Amino acid sequence: MALLEILKYPDPRLKQASQPVQTFDDALRGFVADLEETMRAGPGGVGIAAPQVGRFERIVIVDISGMRKLPAGSSNTGRMVLINPEITKWAGMLMGREGCLSVPDYTGNVIRAEQVRFSACDEFGAQREYVCAGYEARAVQHEADHLDGMLFLDRLVSRRTDLFRRKVYRQKGEA
Ligand SMILES: [Zn+2]
Repeated sequence: MALLEILKYPDPRLKQASQPVQTFDDALRGFVADLEETMRAGPGGVGIAAPQVGRFERIVIVDISGMRKLPAGSSNTGRMVLINPEITKWAGMLMGREGCLSVPDYTGNVIRAEQVRFSACDEFGAQREYVCAGYEARAVQHEADHLDGMLFLDRLVSRRTDLFRRKVYRQKGEA
């Protein structure tokens, strides 16, 4: 396993859209293991997307189970390897604070669906269905955005009122 280098804003590659995974082989699983190790090495990492390490394939990992204080109303599925994820249902709206491993100096308030239903393949190619709520749903939406070249910065209602310079790094979940 190996730690991968995380691209940081404003690296233009973070705007690149990622391609679907076609082949579920040992090379893919090796990459997923490296991606997971990289996520867990980051301060408070609860999610990561392949394009954040310069691999433009539709692969994300979300695991909020290590958060010290899980926001109320949040589901907690544990470790999810989501390959070619497709969100099929959005319900409710909630403003919440987000951070990102690729935007280390800031957090921001972003409106997300309170609950999402989605399907994705695991690292063996088996299709699975998920329903997530609260902070976990937020993390999934944040990571899915990375696959389309979107950062939370692109979703702020106002950079003036919704963007915050980070004082203490290890505070919130990072995705
Ligand atoms: Zn992110």
